[in-house]
Amino acid sequence: MELAHPIVIAGPCSAETEEQVLKTARQLKETDTTVMRAGIWKPRTRPGNFEGVGALGLKWLQKAKQETGLMTATEVANANHVDLALKHDVDILWVGARTTVSPFIVQEIADALKGTEKIVLIKNPVNPDLALWLGAVERFYESDVKNLGVIHRGFSTYEKTRYRNNPEWQIPIDLQNKFPDLPLILDPSHIAGRRDIIFDLCQTALDLNYDGLMVETHFDPDSAWSDAAQQITPATLKQMTIDLRIRKQEGDAVEFRNKLNTLRTKIDVLDHQLIESLGKRMKIADSIGTLKKKNNVAILQTKRWNEVLGKMILEGEENQLSEEFILKIFKAIHQESINHQKKVIND
Ligand code: PEP
Ligand code: MN
Repeated sequence: MELAHPIVIAGPCSAETEEQVLKTARQLKETDTTVMRAGIWKPRTRPGNFEGVGALGLKWLQKAKQETGLMTATEVANANHVDLALKHDVDILWVGARTTVSPFIVQEIADALKGTEKIVLIKNPVNPDLALWLGAVERFYESDVKNLGVIHRGFSTYEKTRYRNNPEWQIPIDLQNKFPDLPLILDPSHIAGRRDIIFDLCQTALDLNYDGLMVETHFDPDSAWSDAAQQITPATLKQMTIDLRIRKQEGDAVEFRNKLNTLRTKIDVLDHQLIESLGKRMKIADSIGTLKKKNNVAILQTKRWNEVLGKMILEGEENQLSEEFILKIFKAIHQESINHQKKVIND
């Protein structure tokens, strides 16, 4: 699967009714979308939510394909799903995040798909574990499934962040470095959990040379039966693909710029992590300030500070960072920390 133009997979989180599938498909036909997605069996974290229409929905996907010519994609979570999806001519099968975490189920699905020509896409596991993700890819390779790709849908965290699932860009970047030919697709919808940051996520992915996007799309997102807050209309998707800068082009000068942009985006990702870490560090400094205030302890604890500095100089050395540099940044961090604590104590 070497792609000149990023592939766009779009469609509802869940197939709900025949009308909803067909209406969405007709609208998607007017966009850059080449593959229509729809969940038929929905893995829910908690019971009681909409769990999918089941095999009946496969007939609607089949109709949508016949009418619009779009390829179809759905999630399979066991051998029975595979059997039914194949019987209904589904073109692309994906393995969901809650499935990738389980080598037993992954193996069951890989066995059921042995030797298939179909495209199989493997979502990252819910937890940030590259080995688990790669392990799933390997099980499919060993099962002679050649048309493989992966979908980055973010990783769950206990603490609430601006994302529903943290992107942790470093993980797909590492995966890309290890397997440069494995197509990598972004699912911005499950990372975001909301509409307003989907565009930026897609742009970052394109800047990192991702091969495609899978975007949850519904003709009436607000009334969707699942993941309503993160779905967008086909019209919004269309505008988005017009506005996105696509960097996958040919030519020497262009290749230079592509490479430069990719590296710069990697730097941006790390800078973002640095700022986030510094912010978290200062929040802890605030808590220390509160504690010191309650116990009437002085802000500056010289012994502790020298210990921190000594440790960081050693760690810096291991990471090819000069002592001079470590001293500079840690003095600045320490000063900011003291300012935070002063503020807490004087408040
Ligand atoms: C989905 O694509 O609708 C879905 C359930 O995704 P994930 O497995 O990434 O949670
Ligand atoms: Mn969904």
